[in-house]
This record gives sequence, C-alpha cells and structure tokens, in this order.
Amino acid sequence: MTATSRPSPAATPSGDAARRAGKRVLLAAPRGYCAGVDRAVIAVEKALEQYGAPIYVRHEIVHNKYVVRTLEKKGAIFVEETAEVPEGSIVMFSAHGVAPVVHQEAADRRLATIDATCPLVTKVHKEAVRFAEEDYDILLIGHDGHEEVIGTSGEAPDHITLVDGPDDVAHVEVRDESKVVWLSQTTLSVDETMETVGALKEKFPQLISPPSDDICYATQNRQIAVKQMGADADLVIVVGSKNSSNSVRLVEVALGAGAGASHLVDGADEIDEAWLDGVSTVGVTSGASVPEILVEGVLEWLSQRGFEDVEIVKAAEESITFSLPKELRRDLRAEAAALSEK
Ligand code: SF4
Repeated sequence: MTATSRPSPAATPSGDAARRAGKRVLLAAPRGYCAGVDRAVIAVEKALEQYGAPIYVRHEIVHNKYVVRTLEKKGAIFVEETAEVPEGSIVMFSAHGVAPVVHQEAADRRLATIDATCPLVTKVHKEAVRFAEEDYDILLIGHDGHEEVIGTSGEAPDHITLVDGPDDVAHVEVRDESKVVWLSQTTLSVDETMETVGALKEKFPQLISPPSDDICYATQNRQIAVKQMGADADLVIVVGSKNSSNSVRLVEVALGAGAGASHLVDGADEIDEAWLDGVSTVGVTSGASVPEILVEGVLEWLSQRGFEDVEIVKAAEESITFSLPKELRRDLRAEAAALSEK
C-alpha cells in the first residue's frame, strides 16, 4: 500500500446561488473505484494477457454487472464454486476474500490460484485469526450471507458470531464477557455500525474494539461525500449494482442525510424520468466497484434533461494504491499443468 487518504475541508455547494440558476448536479468526490477494486480488475486483465483465456474467477471479481460482463468478453469465466473449475486451470479469488477451506479445495483440485482479496479485507482476516488464537469471542458485524462475511467467518468459525445490525444484539451470547472483541465487514454504514457497537457495549461492557477501523477508507470517504450533499439534494442517484454492499449503503446514507429521494441504478438506462418531477438538485455518486464510464452515462442523461451545471462535492483526497497479486509474477500455466500431472 502506498500513500494516504486525507480528508479535506468540505467543498460545500453554494446552494442559494446555484439554486437560483436552476437545475444542477452535485457530483460526489471521491466516488467509484477504490484501490482494492482497481487491483482486482487489473489482476484479471493481466492474467488474461499473460496466461491467455480462460481464467476462472470464483464469484464476481467485484460486485458490478458491467465489470463482470466486460471481463467475460475478454475470456474470464465466473463460477460459483471451485468444484466447477476444470483441474489444471487457473482460478482467481475475488476482492471479497475467501475462507481457508476454499484455498484447500483449490489445492485438492490441483488448481493454480491467484488471490485478488483486497489487502484491507485480508487485514480483517488476520485480526480474526489473531483474536481466535488468543481465545476471544469475536462478534463480527456484517450482513448475513455476504461473501466477505463468509470468508472472514471461515478463518475462525468456532470463535466468530455474526451480528447483523443492532436488532441482532439481543440474541448474542458469549462464553466469557471479559474476552470479547468486535470486528466488522469493510463496506458497512459507519453510523449503523457504531449503533450496533453501542448496543453491544451496553450488553458486554468489556467489549474491545479492533486495533484500527475495519470499515475501509473508501467506504467511509464515499459516505462522507454523500452526507455532505444529502441535505441539498432533492434526489440522489447512486450508480452501483444491487449486490454491492457499499453502494446500497450510499442510498441509505443519502436518505439519512436528508435527500428527498435516492435510487440505486446500474446505469443511466435504469433511471426513471418520473424521479425528476419537481427536482432541481440531483446528487450523483457511485459505489467502490463502479467504473467511471457508468457515471458519465448518468451525467450525460441528466445533461440532456437540463442538468448541465455540475458542482463537485469533495470529501477527501484518495491516493491509495495496492500492488498486484504476487502470483502474477509466476508462470501459472506451467504450474497448473504440473499440478494436473501429479
Ligand atoms: S471497498 Fe474497501 S475493502 Fe472493499 S475492495 Fe475497496 S478498498 Fe478494499
């Protein structure tokens, strides 16, 4: 990881002047691709370039339909389970991370693997392993069934209990109230997570917190930007797929910040003209797995309807990058062939 993510003073829209001028767009910054998504998508492209098609990818590499379709056209094959990958092939694990059992399945199937798990998800996995080794009960705040939660839980299944929001807290039980820690999924709503933590602390006063934020910088920055525009926007359009946790959270954050309405769309073709009735200010943002081309499509669609005035609402500078998975430096085709002959 290089460089930093630095919150900057809010560039709040000069509401009155712009409103007098008529229709306007507030465009969130930062938005779209985070460092983990960028790395994962480039990893698939590089693997296709270096080793040729097909490259199998377990689950959607990132939660975005457009990205998945584009990579499919280049030769990636997306599968649900490792068992679907022919022996002697190359398989990549997605940015959301996998449980150790999945690595073992791939080894048993003699597959060459590339792990595109985001380093910030790996950080949470390591925390889970460490606290489990110290025999803590780990309360993992996250969404039931989300791939990242399944992967993290798989690191220490006997020590981890999932807490899916504040309403779940009443059912949580631990072995020893003096040895309890909470961790979280990286793409949650910051506010709702703190509400859950507050409820957990009431129940378990000795609960300890993770050594550093588990909700990643990209999730936090995109939520801060949407909060800054929410109260000024009659409508907030969030570009992102329905299975993208951080995108869904942006809709909730926009509504919580006072936006008149907010909708999640995969692209401009999903916008309903009726949403613009009586609207003069439209906020636009996108989830961490969304390529900018989709946002440009939305801005073009809005511009054709008179929303040409675009103001940036800037919440942070982002310059984080991650190096590509180290496996890409090896001859994986030769390794896969050797494995399948064993
Ligand atoms: S949203 Fe955060 S944790 Fe997820 S891939 Fe992006 S940087 Fe990594």
